[in-house]
Amino acid sequence: MARKILVSACLLGHKVRYDNGDVPCLDSRFLKWYEEGRMVHICPEVVGGLPTPRPDAQRQGDRVVTGAGSDVTEAFEKGAQASLKLAQGHDVALAILKQDSPSCGSLFIYDGSFTDAKKEGQGTTAELLRNNGFLVFGEDQLDEIERELARIDG
Ligand code: SF4
Repeated sequence: MARKILVSACLLGHKVRYDNGDVPCLDSRFLKWYEEGRMVHICPEVVGGLPTPRPDAQRQGDRVVTGAGSDVTEAFEKGAQASLKLAQGHDVALAILKQDSPSCGSLFIYDGSFTDAKKEGQGTTAELLRNNGFLVFGEDQLDEIERELARIDG
C-alpha cells in the first residue's frame, strides 16, 4: 500500500482559508495522487480552533498575530500539533502544504509587516513537521515531489 501524503485542505478545494476561499491544485499529478487515495488533509488553523472567515495573520518571530494585533499563536500551535499527530498516525511519507501561509508555508511566508512582502521562512505547521522528520513541500514543487515519491515508492 502506497504511503500517504499530508495535504493542506485548501489545496483540495475546501473553503477554509481566512477569506473563506480555497486554492485548489489542479495539476494532473496532484489529482492522480488524490484519486489513488493517498491524501490525508487538514487545515491546521481551523483544527486549531480559528473560525472561517478569520482575520489575516502572519508570523512575527515565534508569535503569530493578526493585522489588528491579536495574538493567535496558541491556535496555530494547536493546529500544528494536530497536523503532526495526523501525519504520525497515517504513515505519511511527505507533506504538500500551501506555500506562503503562516501555518503551511514551507519556503516562503509573509514577513510579518502586513505589507504583502514575503521572506524565506516556514509556517508553524511546516516547521513542526520538519522538526519531527517529515519532508515538507509546497504545491509549487510538484516536480520535486514526483521524484521523491518515486524514490519512496521504490
Ligand atoms: S492553514 Fe493551511 S490548510 Fe488552512 S487555509 Fe491556510 S494554507 Fe490552507
